[in-house]
Parts: sequence; structure tokens; C-alpha cells
Amino acid sequence: MKVEFKVKLRNLSSLTVGGGDIFGAADVPMNVFDLPASSVKGAMRTAISKFTPQGYTSCGEVRPDKLDVGNPCDVCRLFGRTGHWGDSCFTVTQVKTEEGERKELLARVRIDRRSWKASKGGLFTQEVFGPKSEFTFLITYHCDDRRLLKLLLYSISALRYWRLGRNAMIDLRIEDADSLCREICDDDKEMRELITSLGDFIWSLELLEGAERGERD
Ligand SMILES: [Zn+2]
Repeated sequence: MKVEFKVKLRNLSSLTVGGGDIFGAADVPMNVFDLPASSVKGAMRTAISKFTPQGYTSCGEVRPDKLDVGNPCDVCRLFGRTGHWGDSCFTVTQVKTEEGERKELLARVRIDRRSWKASKGGLFTQEVFGPKSEFTFLITYHCDDRRLLKLLLYSISALRYWRLGRNAMIDLRIEDADSLCREICDDDKEMRELITSLGDFIWSLELLEGAERGERD
């Protein structure tokens, strides 16, 4: 079974990339001016480990060195295990688009790690993707298990309630969800509901702009 579909990711708050500040070590690694597909996949894994749907198993382990190797849980079977990343049931690749990526430069003060004070000459700029930037990813699922395909869709959904990078809120939608459902839903009600729920963003831009206006007033 091979299923391909595109997912559009939109960040709702500023998405910070690059730089090497105090959060650097614990953060999702990101290259300047890029949002790597591996970061998105890693965030999906973390999100589904936090919000595992009923009927699925998750060992809850997101650190690759601690993943179980004997009898993997559903999350490990979907995302792959340590030393067995080729086992993963799907790939995520970024699709470069003309529109969408709105980058802004923010001046940030570097904080000294020991004194927790702004360090001398520590002003530096950091690239961030401004709110409402959009990125497109191609997801290719290649296992035969429909259950794990659903878990993949659940993990996209879970990412809406999780965070990416340095605490950025994001929204996602499946592009052309109708034709994806025509291809794979058949009479599978759960699959249809999942794909339908992912067919549009849950946060409307009008709502966000209203909230921004409210904050300013
Ligand atoms: Zn596991």
C-alpha cells in the first residue's frame, strides 16, 4: 500500500529557527531559514506519544536511545525504532513553495547562562518565521497496515495541540482531503472522519486577527 498526500503547516505564533541561545540544547534542531521535515516528524512523534488514541499502544519513549527494540509499540512501529529508522512506515519531505514563508528578524538579547543577566554585547538577531507562515510537506506512507495509517493521521491531528520548535503553536491541514478520501476511505468511517477533520485548518485567520486586535486594545 502506498499513500501520498500533502500537508500544509501554518504557524500561529512566531516560529524560531537557528541561533544558539539557552534553549538550544533542549530544542528541536532547526537550520536557519528552514523547517526540516525531520523536525516535523519528530514533533509528530512527541505529540502522538502525549495524546495516544484509544486502542493504540505507546511506550511513551521519544528518545531514540531508549526506544524498545523487542516488541515495539504502535508508535515505534509507525515511526521506526533506534538503529532501525528504515523501519518507519512513512517519510516526510518538504515541498518548496513560492508563497508562504514570511521571515522576520527579531532582535534578541543573549542571556548569560550563569548570571541570568543580559550579557555584554550579547544582542544578536535571530531568524524567526512570522505568524501565518506556511510550509508544505509531502507524506508518503508505505506500510500495509491501515491501523498504522490512521495512527499517522492521528499524529498530524495531535500536532495541532502540541508545540513545534520553541513553543510555536501550529495548525495543519491535508491538502485535497476529498481526493485522498476517495482513494482510501471506502466504507471506513473512522478513516473518513479523520481525513475530514484534517481537511481544513481549525484556527481561522480571521479569528487570529481578531485575537491580535483584542490584545492591542
Ligand atoms: Zn515504543
